[in-house]
Order: sequence, then structure tokens, then C-alpha cells
Amino acid sequence: MIAKRILNISLLACLLSSPSSGGDAGLDIKKISGAEYISLYDMMKSFGYESSFDVFMQKGRIYFKSHHAAYAVGLSAVIIDGKLYKSDNPVTRMNGEIMIPFDIARDMIRIFSPELAISRDDSRLVYADTGAPEKLEPQEEKRYTGKDRIAFVVIDAGHGGKDPGAIGKGGSREKDVTLSVSRNIEGILKEKLGGIKIHLVRRDDRFVNLSDRTGFANRRLKKGVNGLFISVHVNASISPKISGYETYFLSQNPTNDEARSTAALENDVIVFEERRDSGKKYNDVDYIEARMITTQIQKESSLLAGSVQKGISKSVRKYKSRGVKKADFYVLRGVLMPAVLVEAGYITNLKEGRSLKSREHQAAVAEGICAGIMDFIKKYNRMIKTKK
Ligand SMILES: [Zn+2]
Repeated sequence: MIAKRILNISLLACLLSSPSSGGDAGLDIKKISGAEYISLYDMMKSFGYESSFDVFMQKGRIYFKSHHAAYAVGLSAVIIDGKLYKSDNPVTRMNGEIMIPFDIARDMIRIFSPELAISRDDSRLVYADTGAPEKLEPQEEKRYTGKDRIAFVVIDAGHGGKDPGAIGKGGSREKDVTLSVSRNIEGILKEKLGGIKIHLVRRDDRFVNLSDRTGFANRRLKKGVNGLFISVHVNASISPKISGYETYFLSQNPTNDEARSTAALENDVIVFEERRDSGKKYNDVDYIEARMITTQIQKESSLLAGSVQKGISKSVRKYKSRGVKKADFYVLRGVLMPAVLVEAGYITNLKEGRSLKSREHQAAVAEGICAGIMDFIKKYNRMIKTKK
């Protein structure tokens, strides 16, 4: 199949042999510690791509006609036209230049310019204009839509350090409950999920920026590898009567006003972040990014939320299930994998607040979340099988 493509190109090059392309249009493939890259600058020069880069966040965007891509230095995944493409190697910088992993760069050029026939000539990526959109080989189409196995779970204990989160009656702090529940989850999953790595974003009382929580998870994505992101929180209300637990997935359209205010409460953590313009940061860059997240990830997140909520409802019978909801949580924006945020109960409710402080209840919540995660993985693996 590859040989055929190269043949087609050389044939086309002979047929067209236009002086402008000269049969030699190509980009240098550069090697960085054994891995292959294409310089973004070279792509911009050759194809007229436009790009923007946020130096502080080390994130950038690439634009061409109606197409767009989003990348971050250090991540092995790039979003191209709302779809996630993964590589074995991360986007990196060399002498200040942004270097895109070869396989992702090749995919990007194919998507941005379907009329180009692309091939590889030794240390060059060469292309020729066929005048007609290239038809993707069936195998490649499958690669684009294929699912990657769940190889890791990231447990994100909400708040920490100088950010206590919500405060309950008697001064109990959200950050302590979330850490304890998260460590419980880690213990259970390590025992039950062989072959899947379990990571805690924090395992002690420390402050972690929202973007570092997201980055912690995203950096673990690689070609053929997917993960789950579970952010653990407890809720607060001015009404001490309100109780119950709920599971959220990211959406710009909150379920209702209550969901909207829960997200607003959680998003307040950015006041603790050092950067003075952090408000701008989340409202601008990550907002666009959140909107670009694939509908596939959102679908999977909704499924994960359903499994987790059901899991908790089985192990926590004392309090009511408030159901699966959607809202715009900053910590879920930009997570490039199925991601949910669990509000494990109301710390401001006298009875539930007391429960949330107890080891037994924390263990029950963790057990429920784990049952949900395992249920999701089972369903997910079934989906992979039927897809292939
Ligand atoms: Zn919280």
C-alpha cells in the first residue's frame, strides 16, 4: 500500500512537473533525541499556516483556511479539527522553534490540505498537489476513529494547601475530605485494576494550580493510550438543609442554576493562583480549548459520570443521589480524556458533613467511585471491541 502511494506520487510528479513544485516540495524531518519532528515554522512557511502561541502557558494554535489545531509543549497529543491525535513523542521546542512530532505533523498536513499526496523520502516529507482530495486508506480511517485502551487513571483531590475548599460545620475542610477519599480510591483501584496505572495529582496537603492538574493527566497520553480523570470534591450551600452527591461532566450548558453555581464555587480557586491574570487565562485560552474538545470525549465523560454516580448510589445509601449533571468546571477544561468531577456530598449539611469526616463514609464514597470507574472501563473495552 505504501509502495503504491509512492509510485502514484512519482507518476504524478512526472505528469505535472510544474516548475513551481519542481517535484521537490518537502519539509525536513529533524531528529531530537532519536524521535522525528517537523518544525512548525517550516510548515507555516511551506503551506501558509498561521499560528499563535501563549508563552506563559506554552500552548499554541495553528490556523489554515477553516481548519485549526491546538497543541501544548510537553504533550504527546494535538487536537486537529476537534479530534485528538496522539504520538509516542511530545511536542517540544528546539532553539526556540516549536517542533511537532512527525506522525502528528503528517496527519495535520493531510487534514489541512487533502489535495496533497504526501510521502516520505528519506529525511524529507515530500508532497505533491494532486488537484483532488486524497482518499484516506480504510486502515488510516480506522486509526483516526479507533479507541485507545485505558492505561491510567488520574485521581485529582480537589483543593489543598492555601486553598481549603468549602468549610463545613465545626470547621471541617473540603481539602482534607477530598485527599482522604482520593487515597482510598487509589488503594482500591491498585488492588482491583491490574495493568492500569493509578496516579494521584496530590498525595498531601499542598496547593496545585488547575492547569497543573490538567497537565499532570494530559502528559500521560501517548499513542494507543487513553486515561480517565476523576476530580474529587464536596459541595457547599448556604442552605444547611441541602444534601446529596452528584457527578458532573464538562459542558458549556449547565444543567440548571444549581449546577452553574456549583461550578462557579469550584472555579473560585483561581483566586489562589499566583498569576495575576489567571482570570483572563481561564476565560480566554482554555475557554476556546474547552469548546474544541471532541464530542467523543464529552460522550465518554457523560458515560463515565453515569457509571460513577450509579456506583456511589450503591455504596452510599444514607444520602440521596442528585444525579448526573453538566457544568463548566475550569479543572475539566482542557482534559484530553474522559473526565468527571464528583461532588461527594454537602459539607454544609450537619449530618452529611459529619459523615464526610468519618473514615467509614469516606471509604464508602471511594468504593462507589471505584465501582463506577470499573463499570465504565468494562463498557469502554466492549466499545473498542465492537469498533475494531
Ligand atoms: Zn471543591
